[in-house]
Amino acid sequence: MTITSINPATNQTIETFTPLTKDETLDRVGQADKAYRTWRTTDFNERKQAILTFANQLRERQDEFAHLITVEMGKRISESHYEVEFCAEIAEFYANGAERFLADQPMTAVDANAYLHYEPLGVLMGVMPWNFPFYQVTRFAVPNIMAGNAVMVKHASNVPQCAEAIADLFEQSGIPTGVYTNLFIPSEFVEAIVSDSRVQGVSLTGSEKAGAAVAALAGKNLKRSVLELGGNDPFIVLEDAEIDKTVQAAVKGRMVNAGQSCVAAKRFIVVEAVADEFLEQFKEAMASMKMGDPLDEETTLAPLSTEAAAVHLHEQVQSSIDAGATVLLGGDRPDRDGAFFNPTILTGVTPDMPTYDQELFGPVATVYVVKDEEAAIELANDSSYGLGGSVYTTDVERGRRVAERVETGMVFLNQPTNSQAELPFGGIKNSGYGRELSHLGILEFVNKKLIHLG
Ligand code: NDP
Repeated sequence: MTITSINPATNQTIETFTPLTKDETLDRVGQADKAYRTWRTTDFNERKQAILTFANQLRERQDEFAHLITVEMGKRISESHYEVEFCAEIAEFYANGAERFLADQPMTAVDANAYLHYEPLGVLMGVMPWNFPFYQVTRFAVPNIMAGNAVMVKHASNVPQCAEAIADLFEQSGIPTGVYTNLFIPSEFVEAIVSDSRVQGVSLTGSEKAGAAVAALAGKNLKRSVLELGGNDPFIVLEDAEIDKTVQAAVKGRMVNAGQSCVAAKRFIVVEAVADEFLEQFKEAMASMKMGDPLDEETTLAPLSTEAAAVHLHEQVQSSIDAGATVLLGGDRPDRDGAFFNPTILTGVTPDMPTYDQELFGPVATVYVVKDEEAAIELANDSSYGLGGSVYTTDVERGRRVAERVETGMVFLNQPTNSQAELPFGGIKNSGYGRELSHLGILEFVNKKLIHLG
């Protein structure tokens, strides 16, 4: 077995990599454990200098990394630039904030000299996806390295060049060997790593299926875990929304990363009073997307990450059409090379159709027309997922009321769900558990130790 890097815009192979054997993998766990024991004794300033170097390098070499992301997983080049810049911001946020986030906390509720003292846990395993190949790794690795842990990453098998580039960058930034380790391994080896007594926790971003498999391993071995899984985010349009701006948000929310984002808006729930106006404008905007080479700045719709992803999305869409859904736009693949999919709008999707409760990871919007606000909330919550969501109204108080009733981990008003270094990110239900980013993200894999001095 080899790990292969393929450009999804052309389906041409770029490079192949040889995976580690099981023994080599377990040797890396030993190296990571050894490195952790020294790293945990370093002070925040030493960690900060290395992570700030990492951030500076990301900015200085942004063109190179953005190009790599685009040719390896197909993202539009401007989105790749943004991703690299965002990683630099996350790195700075934790480099500058970690000492404050992990400062001792006095326990003021008791009449005693007691406090919480945060300590690293040890070696952590990260299983990461391809959709934001630099961001997902940075979001997991940087806070944990700043906390004094060591991290090992098994990146998605279709982004090995990104995986290698990130590992090299940590090393060049002064992070000691073993504190960050890239593992070119098949997913079957994750079991041996999570079961290893030297490993203290695991974080996975990816599908529900992979999340459930890794959570089962973590449970069996009594390890901490964080899961950031799929979503089927509602985008609720109330009758007092500003339709022009809402349509712009709808296109942005659905088409980010060619639709391959866990927090992309996926279910458009529109009250009937504004449904015709919304649908007409939304269809026009989606139809005007310019499909093409993701390296071309003029392109607004890039290919999916792999040919297999495009085939899978087509099957999902076709199953809904076969079951009676209406195609308002697209619904199929264009006649050209590469992993492309036409911008698509489906209406008339009903709960008995397979795609009603599946994540559609691509440029496919499902639009539901409902009677009123109450029906919109009910439909929004009729999902096994609970990641993000957004509400569109000119009445902020009404928006707040609706947002509080949407059963997800994040709800945004008049803008699609997005992610910022300072804000917590994560879901409920089958979208996973735990939080990343913000001060909460650095607290997932630390020992919150009580010290009671009497
Ligand atoms: P996966 O969940 O299969 O892949 C994500 C990561 O998990 C990869 O590193 C993968 O490794 C690894 N993995 C997969 N199965 C296991 C396992 N049993 N044990 C350990 N690690 C495992 O996602 P796909 O790329 O197959 O995408 C499928 C769907 O998942 C998408 O269409 C989308 O719906 C959802 N998804 C959601 C993401 C999100 O951001 N929430 C990100 C990616 C996908 P390998 O690559 O070697 O298989």
